[in-house]
Amino acid sequence: MDWHGHAFAFILRIDVEHLEAERYTGDPRAERVATRLLLDILEEFDARFTCAVLGITAELYPDIVRWCAARHEVEAHSMFHEPPYPELSYARQHWDIRRSMAAIEEACGVRVRGLACPHHGLGNEDTARAAIDLGLDYLQARLPDAPADPGLGWYRVADRERPILVPGRERYSASDWSGRRREWPWIEEPWSAGTALRRWQALIDRAKEAGQLATLVVHPWMLQINEGEVKVVQQVLRYAAAQGAWLTGYDQLADRAVARG
Ligand SMILES: [Zn+2]
Repeated sequence: MDWHGHAFAFILRIDVEHLEAERYTGDPRAERVATRLLLDILEEFDARFTCAVLGITAELYPDIVRWCAARHEVEAHSMFHEPPYPELSYARQHWDIRRSMAAIEEACGVRVRGLACPHHGLGNEDTARAAIDLGLDYLQARLPDAPADPGLGWYRVADRERPILVPGRERYSASDWSGRRREWPWIEEPWSAGTALRRWQALIDRAKEAGQLATLVVHPWMLQINEGEVKVVQQVLRYAAAQGAWLTGYDQLADRAVARG
């Protein structure tokens, strides 16, 4: 598979969610400081990555979203991060997605093209219906019968004419973690910069070997409390670039999928 002239691809997804910062650090302003820091670090790289933004963050901190949109892609990440979409009716999911798209557009003037479902992609067919009806190009949700191809592939629901792009079965993905997030099952493992560096570089190695897409999701509020994470993210990005990855974002993958038809 050709990745824009590269042998493999790497996406950094930045989840911008001040509610999570408030919940786990006690101060929503941690999101502002950490997002600015991360965006500054990313200036070293010739890349447009993807920022997944909560609608309420766009409403309360529109400047953060403008910073993101100045250089990177911006997608919706729900309005409030709660509750998980599968617990909501079609109508409530439709409202939530529409409001988060509008809040982001009002903040930065960018028309949102995609939605990253919170809770590691929890969504259902109604999420896909609402995303299609609202004109989104892609939906990051774990859906049954997702296409097998790497990157984004077409997904259909029976009662809608237009398909929507969803991630294929992602085999090369990772996320940062923090011991503060106690209700998440993997937090028994304390944050370790050394472990993260080893794990994320190995992820890049595997994606390179397979000629596939590697994705890493990071949370600015975690950068604020995880010792050494800022440096690890920088090292991992330099490593991906040195290995020849196409550093990219989901809008760009969607463009390629649309061009392929
Ligand atoms: Zn999130």
